Amino acid sequence: MKSHLLKIISLAGILALNPVVAPGDAGDAGDNLPDFGDSSGSLISPTREFELGREFMRSVTAQVRLVDDPHIHQYIRRLGERLVSHSDAPRYPFTFFVIEDSSVNAFAGPGGYIGVHTGLILAARNESELAGVLAHEIAHVTQRHLLRAYESAQQLSLPTAAATIAALLLGAATGSDAGIAAASAIQAGNIQHQLNFTRANEKEADRIGIQTLERSGFDPYGMPSFFERLYQSTRLYGSASIPEFLSTHPVTSDRIAETMERAAQFGNARENDSTEFQLARARLKVTTANDTRPVLREYAALSAKPDAGPADHYGLALAKWRNGETAAARELLQNLLASDPDRILYRTTLAELQMEAGNPREALQLYKETLALYPGDLEVGEYYASALLRTGQAGAARSQVLDMLRDRQARTPAMYELWGKAARIAGPEWETRQASAELHFLRGNFPLAVEQLEQALKYPELSHYDEARVRARLKEFKAAIEERNKK
Ligand SMILES: [Zn+2]
Repeated sequence: MKSHLLKIISLAGILALNPVVAPGDAGDAGDNLPDFGDSSGSLISPTREFELGREFMRSVTAQVRLVDDPHIHQYIRRLGERLVSHSDAPRYPFTFFVIEDSSVNAFAGPGGYIGVHTGLILAARNESELAGVLAHEIAHVTQRHLLRAYESAQQLSLPTAAATIAALLLGAATGSDAGIAAASAIQAGNIQHQLNFTRANEKEADRIGIQTLERSGFDPYGMPSFFERLYQSTRLYGSASIPEFLSTHPVTSDRIAETMERAAQFGNARENDSTEFQLARARLKVTTANDTRPVLREYAALSAKPDAGPADHYGLALAKWRNGETAAARELLQNLLASDPDRILYRTTLAELQMEAGNPREALQLYKETLALYPGDLEVGEYYASALLRTGQAGAARSQVLDMLRDRQARTPAMYELWGKAARIAGPEWETRQASAELHFLRGNFPLAVEQLEQALKYPELSHYDEARVRARLKEFKAAIEERNKK
């Protein structure tokens, strides 16, 4: 009991210290930041840039649908982190996220927020191609290519600046122009101009990105081969189908030739694909399909081929499941798991299916075993907590969530929602207020976040320790409001 209590207290401590969900906390951003401010004569401070980044992310979240599939989320995060650790700024707190959008696009926002559309992941043929795009975006951030755009946005209030950058980066795909409406057309035009990378920027991002790609153990040809395919697609289908990516990162035949040459300098025989990528891609393909029948046919054909790989069978299993063929899907998944018993995705997918098929005991057992194999794994932990909640074990779900929230990577809207639901049933009631406050804060609803914490403070059962923590957090929320209102 005592250790359980300690756990909660230390969690509250972490929450109080680190105000934000994603890496990029003001608290430690200063330590993590490479010192590139003064030498470039920058007008924007690192703190300001991270605030802008957080507002940007809130604006993105409000405008588009983020993929909340825990597996996809963790996959892109792991891939991004692998690249960042081999970049020129390994300690810069990047955040990677996936947007549910079939257009081929990826972009780098302020504060190291890198977004990838599902359309781009599906358009990549192997992991090196996807990694090539991410490495290129990472380089735009580490080389400070967007600095002038942020500086142009400095004259605007923080939320307007962030909303304008988000609207421009998300592009026509969302059809949203809330940010542009808030800024004047001239200001927006000015920012747009600065967001369009120059040829020199593109060249540099290619050069640095290819280095990162190679250092991370990927095939450096991944970058030129993906660019080439995008380029060819515009020649084949005309300007109407120009991938969004090319409008902010123009690709020319010269540029492809140049990246090819760079890649050739590294020689070949690098890892160019991974089962994890192919599985993530198959999962996205099935789960984002509007109609199940065509993907079912496609995977039935692919998996019948003699050279069929695990992703083809996995895709077939998911498509069958979506098509209502639960028993057949379960058998396929069981076979996959038998052939590769340690793979997390097979375990979580089979457990998900068991939950849905009315076998919660099998599902919970599988999650539990998997969590014992991979302690602290965020993907498994989130599924497990959600399954516990759905089977009426709110107390256990709450402990599981609190345990995970100690890892700041776990502080996502989905996790705060789970926390709130579990605390509503299992108590203590004041925690539902804090969970709701954190959720509002993440989404940028600062006044509502403050109100919820003030409500939390009214509960008499709140210990002195918890009260102090909640007060500290409240102070941080208020500071964020002040920062937002500053020009
Ligand atoms: Zn670029």
